[in-house]
Amino acid sequence: MNRRGIAVLGSTGSIGTQTLAVARAFPDDFNIIVLTCGDNAELLIQQALEFNPQAVVINNEDKYIQVKEALAHTDIDVFAGLQALEEVVQLTDIDVVLNAIVGSAGLRPTVKAIQKGKDIALANKETLVVAGELVMDLAAKHQVRMLPVDSEHSAIFQCLVGEEQNPIEKIYITASGGPFRGKDRDFLTHVKKEQALKHPNWVMGAKITIDSASLMNKGLEVIEAKWLFDLSVDQIDVIVHPQSIVHSLVQFQDGSMKAQLGLPDMKLPIQYALTYPARFQNNFQRFNFMDYPSLTFEKPDLETFRNLALAYEALARGGNQACILNAANEVVVDAFLKDRVSFLGMSDVIEQVIQSVDYISTPTLADYLETDKVSRIKALELVTKLN
Ligand code: NAD
Ligand code: MG
Repeated sequence: MNRRGIAVLGSTGSIGTQTLAVARAFPDDFNIIVLTCGDNAELLIQQALEFNPQAVVINNEDKYIQVKEALAHTDIDVFAGLQALEEVVQLTDIDVVLNAIVGSAGLRPTVKAIQKGKDIALANKETLVVAGELVMDLAAKHQVRMLPVDSEHSAIFQCLVGEEQNPIEKIYITASGGPFRGKDRDFLTHVKKEQALKHPNWVMGAKITIDSASLMNKGLEVIEAKWLFDLSVDQIDVIVHPQSIVHSLVQFQDGSMKAQLGLPDMKLPIQYALTYPARFQNNFQRFNFMDYPSLTFEKPDLETFRNLALAYEALARGGNQACILNAANEVVVDAFLKDRVSFLGMSDVIEQVIQSVDYISTPTLADYLETDKVSRIKALELVTKLN
């Protein structure tokens, strides 16, 4: 088999570095063609020297010179800015674009890559939250595969192999519950970012870690699942499973359920997205039942963790509502990380932004980009008023 050409967008982040760990383990199978990041010039340079891609992009244009000079003795092309990101995903030798950018900034490169017929390995769930219908339609039109990297969606995807003719009755997306599982609103009033950043089972980027604590991550994943697997809202349930061993489940029309299990390690869904439909032998740690004598399940608390309810509502209303929810959430998470909004205040701001931004029932890409922009402005206004 030819080596698969891979573009890693967001290569310096949590998913990006784990993707390169997978690529490093299979040098005969994967060829890194493109590496991109937001800001971390040092790590990007180091990765470029190791993997020798055709091109790298640093989003922060102020750091272009630093990267350019460090790679001057190589034949690696160096670019900066969002426009360059949209161009490099189109390079001929790329077979699959693994999008591990955080936030709605991932949408435009995903769209460009699909239009060029590249398969998408998608960690950037915000792409589907913002514009799921448009992106999935485009993927169908260009006959590209949407390969989920998010562990829950990878689990469902794995359960569906061989079931092409069998409709899904429903899916259960598992949630760890995050660091504040079982807490009430009184407790949450005073929690600080240091507490929210301590996830019990996963080490991840800051934004998704806060989203996990507020259950917004699960809300985003419900929306992501709707579009990936073409489901209606009432076919998608969330079940809290604190051990994070059952990564999600599918229930078929005969009542049979399939689940995918494993230790919490993102390298597995990343590897599967890159090797699908094959499974490659690796030395990841194996599950031991004796370490987990009981796997438990409970109902999510939608009254305490309102973000999950807000996400379900946005999905039910459709149109640009999830795009508004996502943009407002990106702003409040950033503000929470800067101590500018309280933990519970995040949901208040999101709710107000959803109420104040105009509803669009069938948005175009331009509408989504505009909705993203105005929702951010509105959310920032509200956060500023609080301070
Ligand atoms: P991270 O913050 O660790 O890394 C983000 C990467 O994107 C970095 O390389 C950063 O430089 C780059 N980046 C940030 N802003 C950018 C911008 N505006 N333009 C271009 N590049 C930019 O985040 P992460 O935890 O790796 O998460 C990445 C995506 O994967 C998110 O959508 C997240 O929800 C999803 N995801 C992550 C995990 C996980 O375990 N970390 C699990 C499931 C899904
Ligand atoms: Mg997940």
